[in-house]
Amino acid sequence: MELSQNTSTVKQVLILGSTGSIGLSTLDVIAQHPDKYQVFGLVAQSSLDLMLAQCLRYSPKYAFLQNATSRQQLRHKLKEQNSAVEVPESESELDQLCAHPDVNYVMAAIVGAAGLKPTLAAVRAGKRVLLANKESLVTAGNLFMKEVAAAGAELLPIDSEHNAIFQCLPATYRGQPATCGVKKILLTASGGPFRETPIEQLATVTPAQAVAHPNWSMGRKISVDSASLMNKGLELIEACWLFNVSPSFVEVVIHPESVIHSMVEYVDGSVIAQLGSPDMRTPIAYGLAWPSRIEASVTPLDFVKLGQLRFESPDLLRFPCLRLAAEAFDVGGSACATLNAANEVAVDAFLNGNLRFSQIPSLIEQVLQEIEVVAIGSIDEVFQADRIARLETQNRLAEFL
Ligand code: NAD
Ligand code: MG
Repeated sequence: MELSQNTSTVKQVLILGSTGSIGLSTLDVIAQHPDKYQVFGLVAQSSLDLMLAQCLRYSPKYAFLQNATSRQQLRHKLKEQNSAVEVPESESELDQLCAHPDVNYVMAAIVGAAGLKPTLAAVRAGKRVLLANKESLVTAGNLFMKEVAAAGAELLPIDSEHNAIFQCLPATYRGQPATCGVKKILLTASGGPFRETPIEQLATVTPAQAVAHPNWSMGRKISVDSASLMNKGLELIEACWLFNVSPSFVEVVIHPESVIHSMVEYVDGSVIAQLGSPDMRTPIAYGLAWPSRIEASVTPLDFVKLGQLRFESPDLLRFPCLRLAAEAFDVGGSACATLNAANEVAVDAFLNGNLRFSQIPSLIEQVLQEIEVVAIGSIDEVFQADRIARLETQNRLAEFL
């Protein structure tokens, strides 16, 4: 890995998506270890008040809001407070921030395909990238992994399942399951809030019900994805790119307690699992400290209280999104970027009351069937596929209203 110019033992961390669920958990872990980590920069969309509060609390060198008006207001308010936090002028400076020589670690926790460009900038600069933004890998997996290898970046999965798999694989694993005796990856899924809801009621479930995840507290988009099982579909694709396997190598197992975060089965019959309370501070702490471990203030598991752990197969009729994701990965080219963009538009429409929950998979499937799959050779082509799919999904949305 390319050496950072910052050789201090205190690691400088840039947080992309600092005002979100993962961003807040990251700041919580960092605050527990001021001797090890400092906040170098904070990036978010438009949450002015929260960003201002984070700036005053963590004194980063830089803060950036994507929304230009909010950014201007942030600059103004920081000045009023005599704060030394700098707010870069334009969006083009965001990439420079990600590649800043003083940055050691970048937490990539922007939601959606919007996270791809800055995350890639950090990868290209050879940073340690803590990857929560699974959409980067879903939309541009092949190119993304090539960039990681070319830049010698350290890519550490933060998604709890992938962090678990990373912990269960041998330390020497470099995308070669057979030579490591790895037989199968078991990707666990809670099943979401509608696991047992009668299928005919899925047409009338509300956004409030969909975001009320039984075990995890997360942002709204990923919560809806968890309810539709698209999240597991995106994670299946994410796992294929991260660990260099095909979808048939990964078995999705519903595990309602969300205590086993995923498992790896070996040829000798061993199955290694990573367990813990459903709290994202565990994978975040592991990503920050790897290969060491640090305190994360996570409630320890109480096995006696837990009593039992249950497992079942996913119901693909109830949750077609998982099938759509696996199919898109097999098709390749622009199919996964199309899947992701269609899903982002569909979820947004559902959250805004413009689409029924049960219509999310039908809308995505129609878009996947309609749009021609093209080969992807550059990031610009990924963005182009993303734009085309968003437009097509928006147009079709009118027919669903
Ligand atoms: P969230 O909605 O709570 O937060 C999203 C963050 O991204 C916010 O800070 C928002 O301001 C920022 N953002 C959105 N669009 C932006 C843009 N265009 N430019 C700059 N910033 C932008 O989402 P979350 O739950 O924290 O999830 C973040 C990512 O992590 C997602 O990709 C999600 O799939 C992944 N993830 C989350 C969890 C979880 O427990 N929350 C677990 C695994 C993976
Ligand atoms: Mg996950």
